[in-house]
Amino acid sequence: MPVSMCVCRLYFSKQSEKCIRCYACRNACPLCYCEVCCVDESQPQWFGKSVALSDTQVFHLMRTYHTAGRCVDCGACVRACPMDIDLRFMNKKIDKDVRELFSYEAGMDPEAPLPLNTFKTDDEDEFIKG
Ligand code: SF4
Ligand code: SF4
Ligand code: SF4
Repeated sequence: MPVSMCVCRLYFSKQSEKCIRCYACRNACPLCYCEVCCVDESQPQWFGKSVALSDTQVFHLMRTYHTAGRCVDCGACVRACPMDIDLRFMNKKIDKDVRELFSYEAGMDPEAPLPLNTFKTDDEDEFIKG
């Protein structure tokens, strides 16, 4: 495994260990405007709600994917966090992937379809119909 990936995983673990699941980051994020966030759902319960490291990391990974290609790096999540957690490196990595794979940059064209929210019903990949 490349050294940079190990460092990222270590940083992610260290930051996640501090998380108290207060959701201030989500509440401050301009992209998190869902009527009911999936972490608050109980039927079905999509996510474990404890502060166990695995549950916490799944929460952060999920939120990173939900903001993929949309995060504008405003830093509101970091400013709101009482534990000084900054996980924007994950958003930046996903943003880079989205830029390279879909030639899409968040915030540049409000009319452009969001690459990870867009699909064709006649897509040849079966998973899209699941
Ligand atoms: S930096 Fe990105 S994830 Fe954080 S609050 Fe701003 S838009 Fe949301
Ligand atoms: S974390 Fe995902 S489900 Fe929850 S409010 Fe943000 S975008 Fe919506
Ligand atoms: S604001 Fe900080 S402590 Fe609260 S859920 Fe987000 S990362 Fe965890």
